[in-house]
Amino acid sequence: MTSWQRFRVAKPGAQEQSKRVNPMSIEKVGVVGAGQMGAGIAQVCALAGIDVFINDITAERIKHGIDAIAGALGKLVEKKQLDEDASATALARVKPAPSFADFADCDLVIEAASENEEVKRRIFAGLCAFLKPDAMLASNTSSISITRLASVTDRPERFIGIHFMNPVYKMQLVELIRGIATEDVTFEAAKALIARLGKTATVSEDFPAFIVNRILLPMINEAIYTLYEGVGSVESIDTAMRLGANHPMGPLQLADFIGLDTLLSVMQVLHEGLADSKYRPCPLLVKYVEAGWLGRKTQRGFYDYRSGTPVPTR
Ligand code: NAD
Repeated sequence: MTSWQRFRVAKPGAQEQSKRVNPMSIEKVGVVGAGQMGAGIAQVCALAGIDVFINDITAERIKHGIDAIAGALGKLVEKKQLDEDASATALARVKPAPSFADFADCDLVIEAASENEEVKRRIFAGLCAFLKPDAMLASNTSSISITRLASVTDRPERFIGIHFMNPVYKMQLVELIRGIATEDVTFEAAKALIARLGKTATVSEDFPAFIVNRILLPMINEAIYTLYEGVGSVESIDTAMRLGANHPMGPLQLADFIGLDTLLSVMQVLHEGLADSKYRPCPLLVKYVEAGWLGRKTQRGFYDYRSGTPVPTR
């Protein structure tokens, strides 16, 4: 056996391994960012019996997030997937947290603010002074280095990437990403939380966009190039991939659902982080974001949603 083979044998699946440790129980969670992901994360935590404190940049945005949770729970009641008492109990567990001081008792704070490294770094740097010494920190980032985000905190060993999928309530998968300093006890606590939420965890190494978005978002970016180069219209591209590749949604529909600003940020992280021209964001995607056409959340993207029926914008 060569020394190289010995090295390979000594470390099989090291990323999946973790020592048997007793994870801390997470009963109070803080969420930073009350947008579509923050509200979704707060909803599933509250339904699992966890107290949630939700923060955003203004009281209006916090209210918007809590209203979205109330609306989503109401829909589950309508569909008879949840009874009214359980819905009311879950909603009562979600409390506004206009200041990071409201996170003082939290066992874990999950950041789900906009996909912008500077924004996230400022949040994490500002948070730590208000937390319990043993509180954990997590980012829901779609693409940014967990090691770099952890480095601005006072507890990189208690920092982890917990990447929920959209919509959080419906999607089964959660990616767990260790930073270079993440300890086993942190990983085990995150894994136990995901199991308590009834979801399945997979493990990804800390590389740009992790696993799901490394594969999915270049496909969506390619669909936008296909539109940009006039190969097909919005409708023909989406129909082609729905009926021809059996995708449940067309790639441009999915782009609008994710948010075009988030999509562009992830492509930029891939392009810069992997230094490969195959990840170059499509200029048409850049143009839509510059126009403020960010998809469903602004009522206009590759489709216009303002009339209630989605109308292709190209
Ligand atoms: P969003 O635009 O719906 O919400 C982002 C929220 O963050 C907004 O309410 C904004 O006001 C808030 N925010 C911005 N700066 C803040 C600050 N300094 N402090 C507190 N709040 C702040 O975006 P989203 O789709 O919910 O995405 C949030 C995060 O989740 C991003 O990191 C994104 O990459 C990730 N994510 C998104 C998806 C998706 O499909 N949209 C899926 C998985 C992960």
